[in-house]
Amino acid sequence: MNFNELNLSQELLRAVDELGYTEMTEIQQQSIPLLLEGRDVVGRSNTGTGKTAAFGIPAVESITEADRRSAAVLILCPTRELAMQANEEIRKFAKFKEGVKSSAVYGGASMEKQIHELKRGANIVIGTPGRVMDHIRRKTLRLENIRTVILDEADEMLNMGFREDIETILADVPEDRQTVLFSATMPKEIMAITEKFQRDPVHIKIKSAQKTVELIEQFYFEVAMGRKTDALRLLLAAYKPSSAMVFCNTKAMVDQLTDELVKHGFRAAGLHGDMKQIQRTQVMNSFKSKATEILVATDVAARGIDVSGVDAVFNYDLPQDNEYYIHRIGRTGRAGRTGTAYTLISGRRQLFDLRAIEKYTHAEIHEMPLPDKSDIVSMKKEALVRDISEAQAGHNAYDILDRLTEMGIDYREAAARVIAKQLSAETESLPDFDSARPLRKGRNNGAKTVKIDINIGRNRRIAPNFILGALVDATGMTGKDFGKIDIYDDHTTVEVPETEYEYIIDSTDSMKINGNKVEVKLYKGGAHAERRNRRIDDRPKFDRKKAAYGNKKKSEIFSEYIPNRKKRMKKRH
Ligand code: ADP
Ligand code: MG
Repeated sequence: MNFNELNLSQELLRAVDELGYTEMTEIQQQSIPLLLEGRDVVGRSNTGTGKTAAFGIPAVESITEADRRSAAVLILCPTRELAMQANEEIRKFAKFKEGVKSSAVYGGASMEKQIHELKRGANIVIGTPGRVMDHIRRKTLRLENIRTVILDEADEMLNMGFREDIETILADVPEDRQTVLFSATMPKEIMAITEKFQRDPVHIKIKSAQKTVELIEQFYFEVAMGRKTDALRLLLAAYKPSSAMVFCNTKAMVDQLTDELVKHGFRAAGLHGDMKQIQRTQVMNSFKSKATEILVATDVAARGIDVSGVDAVFNYDLPQDNEYYIHRIGRTGRAGRTGTAYTLISGRRQLFDLRAIEKYTHAEIHEMPLPDKSDIVSMKKEALVRDISEAQAGHNAYDILDRLTEMGIDYREAAARVIAKQLSAETESLPDFDSARPLRKGRNNGAKTVKIDINIGRNRRIAPNFILGALVDATGMTGKDFGKIDIYDDHTTVEVPETEYEYIIDSTDSMKINGNKVEVKLYKGGAHAERRNRRIDDRPKFDRKKAAYGNKKKSEIFSEYIPNRKKRMKKRH
C-alpha cells in the first residue's frame, strides 16, 4: 500500500515523497489509519521497521491552528539519542506544513534552551521520561492540551526504570486523549500499563523478526580467553568495514576498547551513557558522516540508533539478553540492505549462550575461523593488484621513476619496492594471529590444563567412568575433553583444559555422582589457585536450560562453511 492511498494532506504527502518513501511498511499500513482516526494502539514490531513514521506522520497531521501555543502531542523515548532522532524525523514530515513546532527535551542538555523552545509554542514534544517530568514540575511543560501520548520503545523505557515517571505522566495528561504504545516485546508490565491507561486499544503485531535477521549474514569466531581485542583488530584489518558498530556490555569496556583501537590507528569512537550529551552528539554525527568508521557502544546508548550504511556489527561481548542480539545486529542490513554480524566468543559457556541465541532468532550463526596472517596478506595482495590496475599515474610518478633509473634502479625493481612498502605498512602492526585462536580441546594436543577437585573418592566406591560420565553429562563436553583422573580416599582430581575450567565448575553446580551431591572446585595445587577460586565465586550461576541446547556438532557447521570461505572473503574485497 502506498502513502498516497492514505487520506493525508498534500503537505505530508510531499514530505514523505521527498524522503523517498513510497510503499508503507507493514506496521505503518496497519497503524497509521487507526492513529489518524484517533484510536489507541499497541504496536509490536521489530527494530528497523519504520515505527517513527508510523506514529510521527499521524502526529504531524493532527496538529491544527488551535495548537499554536501549547503541546498537543507528547512522545516519550528511552534515550536522548532516540528523542533527538525522532525529533529530526518528525521535522522532516512537518517540512511543508506550517505551524508545526517540534522540540526534543532530554537530560544532559541545557534546560534554558529547552524551556525557550517550549515557551515558543512547541506543539509536538519528544523527550525522555526523566526530563519530561522535570519540565512538568517546573511548569515549563503543561499537559492540559495534550491530546496524544506516544510511548516509543516502551519495553526499553521500563527496563531502564522509567515506569514510575511514565505512570505519573500518563495520570496527569487529560483523560480524554489518545494513548499509543510501541514496543519490541510485550512483557507483563507493558500489559499492565495498557490496561490501566489505554482505552479499547487495537493490538497490532508484526511478525518480522525473521525478516530483519534474514538479510544479515551471521558468523562467530572462537577466540582464546583474553585475546578478543587482538581478534577484533585482526577482523577489522581483514574486512575493513567502512562503517561498523562494536557492542560491549559495560561502559568501562567501551572506553578501554575504543582507546585500544584508536591507539592502533583505527578511526574509532565510543558511545555510552556516562558521556556528556555534547560528546555523544559529536560522536553520533561523526559516525553518521562516516568520519568515524567504528562506533563502540553499549546496548542502551545504541538502542534504536538509525544510521544507514552500517556494513558490519561486531559483538565484542555476547549480549546479556537474546532480544538485544536482534537489536544489535539490526543496526546493519537496514531498509532491506544486506549486512554482516560477527560475534566473538571465548570458552564453551559462551558457545552455549550463542547456541541459545541462534535458537531464539531462528537463524544460523556460522562458525568462521579467524583469518591468519597469510589470509590477510593474500587479501591485501589482491586489493593492491586491483588498486594499482585501476590507478592513474601522474607526471610526478614518471619523474620519480626517471630519477630512480638514473640511480640504477630499474622500473621492475622500483615497482616491487613500492609494493613491498605498501604491503608491510598494511600488515606489520597486526596482532600475533596464531595466539589469538583458541587452544583446541583434548588431552593430547599440548593445550594447557588445570585440575579440578571433586569431593568424593574411593570411600564412596567411585570409579573413573562414574566421574567421567557425570562430567560429560553436566557439561555437554566429550570424554576426550577430560584428562587424567586420580581417585583418592575422599576426593578426586580431573585434568581439564584451562580455557574451560570455569565453565566446567559452573555447569557442575548441581551434579550428582552415584546419587551423591558433589562439590567441584579448582584443585588448589596451582600457584594462582586462591585468586582463581575467588573469581569463580563472583560469577553468576550457570543456567542449565541454556546448556541443554547445542546438540548440533560444531564440525558439521564447520565443514559446511569452509568451502565458501575464500569466495566470501573475495566478495568482500
Ligand atoms: P524503528 O523505529 O521501527 O526501529 P525507524 O523508524 O527508525 O524504525 O525506521 C528505520 C529506517 O527505515 C529509517 O531510516 C527510516 O527513514 C526508514 N523508513 C521508514 N519507513 C519507510 C518507508 N515506508 N519506506 C522506506 N524507508 C522507510
Ligand atoms: Mg524506533
